Amino acid sequence: MTTLNHLINGARVDGEGRTQDLYNPSTGEVSGQVSLASQATVESAIEAAHNAFPAWRNTPPAKRARVMFRFKQLLEENAEKIAHLIGQEHGKISHDAAGELQRGIENVEYACGVPELLKGEYSKNTGPGIDSWSEFQPLGVVAGITPFNFPAMVPLWMYPMAIACGNTFVLKPSERDPTSALYIAELALAAGLPPGVLNVVNGDKEAVDTLLNDPRVQAVSFVGSTPIAEYIYSRASANGKRCQALGGAKNHAIVMPDADMDNVVNSLTGAAFGSSGERCMALSVAVAVGDKAADTLIEKMQAQMQSLKVGVFSDAGNDFGPVITKQHQEKVLGYIDSAEQQGATVVVDGRGVSVPGYENGFYVGGTLIDRVTPEMTCYKEEIFGPVLLVVRADSMEQAMQLIDEHEYGNGTCIYTRDGEAARYFSDNIQVGMVGINVPLPVPVSYHSFGGWKRSLFGDLSAYGPDAVRFYTKRKTITQRWPSAGIREGAQFAFPA
Ligand code: NAD
Repeated sequence: MTTLNHLINGARVDGEGRTQDLYNPSTGEVSGQVSLASQATVESAIEAAHNAFPAWRNTPPAKRARVMFRFKQLLEENAEKIAHLIGQEHGKISHDAAGELQRGIENVEYACGVPELLKGEYSKNTGPGIDSWSEFQPLGVVAGITPFNFPAMVPLWMYPMAIACGNTFVLKPSERDPTSALYIAELALAAGLPPGVLNVVNGDKEAVDTLLNDPRVQAVSFVGSTPIAEYIYSRASANGKRCQALGGAKNHAIVMPDADMDNVVNSLTGAAFGSSGERCMALSVAVAVGDKAADTLIEKMQAQMQSLKVGVFSDAGNDFGPVITKQHQEKVLGYIDSAEQQGATVVVDGRGVSVPGYENGFYVGGTLIDRVTPEMTCYKEEIFGPVLLVVRADSMEQAMQLIDEHEYGNGTCIYTRDGEAARYFSDNIQVGMVGINVPLPVPVSYHSFGGWKRSLFGDLSAYGPDAVRFYTKRKTITQRWPSAGIREGAQFAFPA
């Protein structure tokens, strides 16, 4: 059995520290170990990034972009292998893993345009003989801390753009499924990144705290659960670092009485149960407006869910795989129990599912729960499993109020044929990413990704144009070349 180590200054190193088991969630078996970096190991990665910064910062953006073009090509050439690495540690079905990688590659494509993105702003004659321009300079060493649920894509939201902008990077992937992130980082080095520009340390809280405390780290990008996001944001900010920390979610879909119900059922099924519901944009709550819409939705969902197939990641015939760990499986099952105890109706029950040949895998079957109300634990908290809740509302206003009052504001969507209702919804709803008849409104790589409320701590969203701003600082230069006559004495007031 192998122990996954770290990638520091261009080489794989063992470092000091503890280890933790890695699992194949489809079988429930231990598949290896991962090193958990000590403070000293993380500091050696920061040191490598710090030393690589001056030369990388001065490498022309077009040359940095060329590395990204080669990186994109290597990712495409190795896509099948990467999808397999994702699947065996995360559990998502291979075609879903391939889709995840494709979304990651799109961020590399965006980073290929960095010479254009860094062009800056210029104004001639801001005063007599005076020119001004703003340029966007890299920050230095940037850290990225990422979650288990998109082990390849979320790191690719961060470092391609950070590095293309001239920063150097230390990535700390999830310790639950780090193999694909490490493999992909090695491809980035093979594409031509000099040693030290991209480093990967595996680890847990000790590694994260070292990144948050070290004064050489200028900025932190985090994606994960809300309690940890809040901790990261406050600690990084208190230490004077720039920080963006994306947190958890509870994404609602409003189902209006005029919606095309077959379309709703098809898209809700994919959006609620795909990747076992372990997506921050998973649609976990359907708010049906009116009992008639709710009854039709339940009836059609129930029929559709008969054919849902949960099973091993490598069988493309399955719709979704296991959840990430045994503990998480128990947590998800606990939410279903609590819903029942608190008075909701479990219409389709995914408890007690067993996959033949994979009896020890961490499976939860697709679950549909009706008559959920806002006080219930299953409604208030993020379940992060293949569980769809149905809440019944009397009006669109009441449905929108539910969404606005929820602590999370990541994604949401409305199903309707009424353009006016859809426009009112997107104008007023207190959520960062909105779909109109689109269940998972994940922005493309040339927009930016970010929720509102307790789904994002910080000002700037992930990837796209916001990433250019996050990974650079503006410097504005005002220039005058003096000619005879302007050196006559000091001026004490702004020129009127
Ligand atoms: P998590 O918060 O448990 O872990 C995320 C990262 O934080 C990991 O690298 C982990 O090692 C580190 N970490 C965990 N506990 C820590 C601690 N006490 N101190 C310092 N670091 C710590 O999240 P997860 O379970 O890996 O991922 C699932 C969560 O991520 C869900 O809540 C999901 O909604 C969220 N998520 C959000 C987005 C988004 O864009 N908003 C995207 C993907 C996932």
